[in-house]
Amino acid sequence: MTGSDEIRQSADEDRPPLILSELSWPEVAEIKDGVEMVLIPFGSTEQHGPNLALSADAAIAESLCRMASVAMSPRLLVAPAVPWGVSPHHMNFPGTITLAADTLLRLFDDMVSSLTEHGFKRYLIVNAHGGNREISGVIAQELGNRYEIEFFGTVFVWDLVPEEVNTKFQKTSRVGHACELEVSDALFLRPEIVKRDALDAADFREDGWDLRDTLKRYGVRAAHSMSDITNNGALGDATLATVEAGRARMEAAVESLSDVVATVTRSTPPSNAPRAQVASEHTDN
Ligand SMILES: [Zn+2]
Repeated sequence: MTGSDEIRQSADEDRPPLILSELSWPEVAEIKDGVEMVLIPFGSTEQHGPNLALSADAAIAESLCRMASVAMSPRLLVAPAVPWGVSPHHMNFPGTITLAADTLLRLFDDMVSSLTEHGFKRYLIVNAHGGNREISGVIAQELGNRYEIEFFGTVFVWDLVPEEVNTKFQKTSRVGHACELEVSDALFLRPEIVKRDALDAADFREDGWDLRDTLKRYGVRAAHSMSDITNNGALGDATLATVEAGRARMEAAVESLSDVVATVTRSTPPSNAPRAQVASEHTDN
């Protein structure tokens, strides 16, 4: 057991996180009126160079949500993590699974319509995969307007970490995937997914970076493949990752999340009004 495991375990005992998949239905019935927001961890099953297991993004999103649920216990409910995302640009590396955007929209729609039927009214997608940013925004906009709910937002984990925290721990100039920062997050949250004996820096392809930088200057977003910019699938230098950097980043992210929840709940006070469209009888089983 690592130091961070011990810290998490003792925190869990004092203030247990609300993890939907670990609760029974009577327990859900008991806590649901006190839940201020449902966090939906959103990841990907995709290559992270030689440095991390394919589950990295889902594992990081889920563990961060668990930390936030402990920190704000018992106000945040963590939904089951969505372990697949939009990752066609990682398909040149074996093992990656990518879902179509419309599959993901339907998947989130079904999750949210179920949870809304149980009375939950505020949702935040906590997304740990850059390739999910666009679809997350579409999902929030579509579902937030489709259902009688009070809030539907999405946030990218990296955006929850203040710039000064990143600057302190970023050691190389091109980061963002399987790099020193992401591997640090994993070392702190889920050390078992870190391939410690295989950690390696990016093997960059300069021609691919030149093209990317030029297009970026004009604001052009283009389909791309990770294999055009890195031969081993990683960015940055994972050998420089530390538990301390991961702890600092994730604790800062939890603090940001708690600000987000406070801001949203202040602007949408919980309503005790009965829901309008609840079927009064369910005889199916
Ligand atoms: Zn990742």
